[in-house]
Amino acid sequence: GSLVIAVDGTSGSGKSSTSRGVAARLGLRYLDTGAMFRAITWWLLREGVDVHDAAAVAAVADRPRIASGTDPLAPTITVDGTDVSVEVRSDEVNAAVSPVSAVPAVRSRLLELQREVIGAGGIVVEGRDIGSVVWPQAEVKVYLSADPDARAARRAAEEGGADVAATQQSLLERDRIDSGRATAPLTMADGAVHVDSTHLTLDEVIDRIVGLASQ
Ligand code: C5P
Repeated sequence: GSLVIAVDGTSGSGKSSTSRGVAARLGLRYLDTGAMFRAITWWLLREGVDVHDAAAVAAVADRPRIASGTDPLAPTITVDGTDVSVEVRSDEVNAAVSPVSAVPAVRSRLLELQREVIGAGGIVVEGRDIGSVVWPQAEVKVYLSADPDARAARRAAEEGGADVAATQQSLLERDRIDSGRATAPLTMADGAVHVDSTHLTLDEVIDRIVGLASQ
């Protein structure tokens, strides 16, 4: 069907596990737009482009060929045909992705790719601006949040026991840039349902969104 479920929220709010779980339960595809921003960032770092030089980033933003695999059980992200799913989670990419994502040429390039993938629908899409900019007509829009302590603990565990304090600092720094940028800042979209996952299990959050989708 044409159902589109938009899941926006801050880093570490549980967006990825939640969105994949909802897609698997409902037999939908899954798109991780954060992975696309991470993929461009990984490529820029590899090419030696200064990620804090917005003009230099904009000049090459359309060069890498980025493709997303949309199976919620095995999502992939490739750059020029190479799977970089692991590489895009590095500390280097974490530190560089927010300034890269603030460059309008990067956003417009990826917006086009995202809309192509979303196309006919039947998909859960996670990001920061899906319900507000990328697909405002989504049938279901969720804004997922959680307390910083819960987010840092979850993300550190996902990263195989990373330092919680350092992880929290990196998450909050990305939030600060993502919320403060001029183009498509992280906000709650019109019509979005706010779900605070701090005191909910993953299954409870998935149930809530599946419930919204069947209304
Ligand atoms: O969701 P994830 O933490 O992987 O996203 C990484 C970064 O990509 C975010 O911190 C944000 O800067 C950027 N992003 C964005 N818009 C999206 C998805 C991600 O700006 N729709």
